[in-house]
Amino acid sequence: MFRVVIDQQRCKGCGLCVEFCPQDNIKLSSAMNQAGYHPACIISEEACTGCQMCALMCPDVCIEIYRVKAEAEVNA
Ligand code: SF4
Ligand code: SF4
Repeated sequence: MFRVVIDQQRCKGCGLCVEFCPQDNIKLSSAMNQAGYHPACIISEEACTGCQMCALMCPDVCIEIYRVKAEAEVNA
């Protein structure tokens, strides 16, 4: 399983990660961040394959993907 961490305050809501996730597993939040953008958020961590496409596409490097092990996390 993977944990997708999207920096809600740095995200500018450009939607690139939404468009390029092969699992259609990212959406833009209805909430606004401090800069007035609707930030991206993960829909289901269970559905994430860890492909890292979203992290690679983000022009602002707002996304980090972690592989979740039993009790510890390591960078995927
Ligand atoms: S790592 Fe891949 S499957 Fe997971 S949210 Fe990002 S683009 Fe989607
Ligand atoms: S690509 Fe980056 S800046 Fe654009 S919506 Fe996704 S997380 Fe936010």
